Amino acid sequence: MMAKTHQAFAVFSVLMVDKFVPGLVGNLCVACCLGFIGALLPDLDSPQSSFGRIVPMLSKPFHKILGHRTVTHSLFAVAVLHFTFMAFSLKPSYSNAICVGYISHIIGDMLIGKNGVTLFWPLKQKCSINPIRIPVAGFGEYVVFNLLIVCIAARGLHQFEPEAYHLLLKGISLIV
Ligand SMILES: [Zn+2]
Repeated sequence: MMAKTHQAFAVFSVLMVDKFVPGLVGNLCVACCLGFIGALLPDLDSPQSSFGRIVPMLSKPFHKILGHRTVTHSLFAVAVLHFTFMAFSLKPSYSNAICVGYISHIIGDMLIGKNGVTLFWPLKQKCSINPIRIPVAGFGEYVVFNLLIVCIAARGLHQFEPEAYHLLLKGISLIV
C-alpha cells in the first residue's frame, strides 16, 4: 500500500473506532493527526518509504537485518508500541490513536500487495487478506484510495455538519 493510502486508511480507521467506541481516541482532530503519524511508523523497515527516508540511519540497518514487512508489521510491534507509551505515561487516548493508525497500516499491507506481512513474528508465515491480489500502486489501490477519501469526507460532514450531510444524501437519492 502506498503512503497516501495508508494515511487515508488510518484517518478512516480512527473515524470508525470513534464511531463504534466513542471516547477511545479522544479529540477527533488530534486523533486523526496521531493516527496519520502512527500509520507511517511500520515502514521504518523500508529506506524507500516516507518515514524510512526521514530516518535513513535507522531504516537502512533495519531493512538489511530484518527485511521489509517483518517485525514492524506484527502484533509484537503493536504490543511493544503500546507498552512503551504506557511506560512513558502517554495520555491513553493519544496512545490509542497512534496504535489505531499503526494497526491500520498492518491491515492495509495485508489487503493490498502480493506478499502480506509476518503478523505473528517471529513466525515467518506471511499473512494476507487479499484474495484478488490487488497490486501496490495499481488501479485497485487507486479505487480503494478514492473510496476512502469519499468515506472520510462523508463521515466528516456527518460529524461536523449533519444537516448538510442529510441534504446531500437527499440530493443523491433524488438523482439515483
Ligand atoms: Zn508497510
